Amino acid sequence: MPTLLTPVPCTQCHSPAVFLWCSGTEALCEKCVPKIRKRESAGKAFKMLIGPRRTEDETWIQDENLSVFGLRAFIDDCLALEPSSYPHDLLTTDADVISSFIENLASRVSQPKRIANKNEVETLEHAIRRLRRYFEMWKRGDLPFVLIREVPWVILKPSGNSWPTIERYCNRLKKTRNHRYDDERLRFLFNLKPDEVCCGLGNYEGYLVFVFNARNTAVMERAKVGNAIFIVNADRWRFLSQQSKTELLTDYSNEVESFPHAGHIWRRWLRAALRRRGILPPDAPFK
Ligand SMILES: [Zn+2]
Repeated sequence: MPTLLTPVPCTQCHSPAVFLWCSGTEALCEKCVPKIRKRESAGKAFKMLIGPRRTEDETWIQDENLSVFGLRAFIDDCLALEPSSYPHDLLTTDADVISSFIENLASRVSQPKRIANKNEVETLEHAIRRLRRYFEMWKRGDLPFVLIREVPWVILKPSGNSWPTIERYCNRLKKTRNHRYDDERLRFLFNLKPDEVCCGLGNYEGYLVFVFNARNTAVMERAKVGNAIFIVNADRWRFLSQQSKTELLTDYSNEVESFPHAGHIWRRWLRAALRRRGILPPDAPFK
């Protein structure tokens, strides 16, 4: 499981924060630090630390073993790439803070001994370039929030009668776009009683997403027989579905399980994945 940064309480107001201005035994949140800064000379000693930790003598220091994933997710979330991994009250709109997070992430990548392998370094370099680009757009107010945040989806609450709606959606695509779905696979997913089934519209036409909230799982199906199936965490599917397939398999590979739709082998793979996630019971028969 990817790790997020662990919030620590501000020593003044006790609100949790993932970045604090620290000096000796004091660690102040974004709201408390301006009060101290007014006393100028005192303010100068405070340094912004990301995910600070306390040493044995109670001094706050930068934790050097921060989760790279946690850093990246924080920047994404501050730039409002929904849905958020962090609660909103931990995020910031302070450009200097966001910039510090990006630089911190970049410095980790330039010290590759901290990172497991070469692929991971390349993935992160790519992510940093993307974040720098987004950050510049964000500062100019040009980041297309709407495109990134709001995906047109029709959400069907599956009830006994939503299968005909799915069928209608598929049939329409079959006629107008020559898309073909694997009916057996859709039926199989539908019979597992997802909490929601989402049908994509506009650019997302052809997507069907089966969401299982209790198991934090979303199975993304793309129209056209032969396409891969993607399984991601339910709280991330809206964001992840907006990435290109290449980005998914490079930048977000740690969040995605994918199965090629080769012959009939998808059944085995899908069942195994759903068993791991507790959607199918462990003793469900192999088919
Ligand atoms: Zn505070």
